[in-house]
Amino acid sequence: MSLSEKEGLKIKGRVVVHQQMRDLISLRVGGKTDLFVTPEDKKDLATVLSFCKDRRIPHFIIGNGTKLLVKDDGFKGMVIKLGTLFKQIENCGEEIIVGAGMDLSTLIDFVTEKGLSGLEFLAGIPGTVGGAIVRNAGAFGESISRRLLSVRVMDGNNNSDLILSKEDIRFGYRTSIFMKRRDWVLMGAKLRLFPEEKEKILIKLREVKRRKMISQPLSFPSAGCVFKNPPSCSAGLLIQKAGCAGMRIGDAEVSSHHANFIINKGKATAKDIIRLIEEVRRIVKEKFGITLETELEII
Ligand SMILES: Cc1cc2nc3c(=O)[nH]c(=O)nc-3n(C[C@H](O)[C@H](O)[C@H](O)COP(=O)(O)OP(=O)(O)OC[C@H]3O[C@@H](n4cnc5c(N)ncnc54)[C@H](O)[C@@H]3O)c2cc1C
Repeated sequence: MSLSEKEGLKIKGRVVVHQQMRDLISLRVGGKTDLFVTPEDKKDLATVLSFCKDRRIPHFIIGNGTKLLVKDDGFKGMVIKLGTLFKQIENCGEEIIVGAGMDLSTLIDFVTEKGLSGLEFLAGIPGTVGGAIVRNAGAFGESISRRLLSVRVMDGNNNSDLILSKEDIRFGYRTSIFMKRRDWVLMGAKLRLFPEEKEKILIKLREVKRRKMISQPLSFPSAGCVFKNPPSCSAGLLIQKAGCAGMRIGDAEVSSHHANFIINKGKATAKDIIRLIEEVRRIVKEKFGITLETELEII
């Protein structure tokens, strides 16, 4: 995309040409995107979506990039990350209205301070509220869909506001309707929590974080679990039993700590990681006859 085209885009938020995607995703791999923008508010977002629609520019919404792998040749189009006004919280009793751009950790700190419980299982998940809803993030048998009442969406076809109920979102295991409706941008969500003593919430949070620290390789870049658990078994266990833990291509390594994590030991490329994913899938299929499905999204 030329600079002159960029100049046609006037928003309050940032507009960056040729942004390195590796700086925006937790795996720290991937090439550049033509344009990276951070719409500050609804008006900015509408401007950005119209800009893409009028010029037929493909766009991709990113949260904290903790469930994404961007290929080495980057993303041809525009990457959009929600800015400041999408990071606000309103507290109406046991209901919380929160912007989709807010980090889960900030939301958890806020509700804990208010004595509201129900999100403790999300502690340690490094995503945003938007990314967590799109991927129905969760742990220990719970997922964010359980606490969700509704979401507010901007429809990129006509920039109208939609309110979707939990039923409309068609949540599944680490998925939702947003994985198909790429023309919808999640702007905010309404969650229902329940009152609890702050001390008790803090105890639960400490326990969740302790379990994560023990079970996840947190010293190297990763994108969490690479594969979905097949029905009634753990992908990590299958990968370990197949002898893939510690397997390495370039600087991409199947973690010995948690075999469903692929970590970047330094200078891994997206190609290394994709080759490693394919190799693990091949070996698991050969040994157990099970085809692992990726949870990680490849752009
Ligand atoms: C160390 C580590 C541990 C993790 N542990 C867990 C875990 O225990 N459980 C778990 O479920 N996940 C876990 N994850 C994965 C990840 O953090 C979650 O899936 C998280 O919810 C993704 O949020 P994100 O903001 O990073 O989304 P991104 O990765 O940026 O995006 C994910 C998807 O959401 C879409 N999206 C994001 N925001 C919007 C929006 N506003 N509107 C429309 N679409 C949007 C993107 O287009 C993309 O399709 C872990 C990751 C890491 C690195």
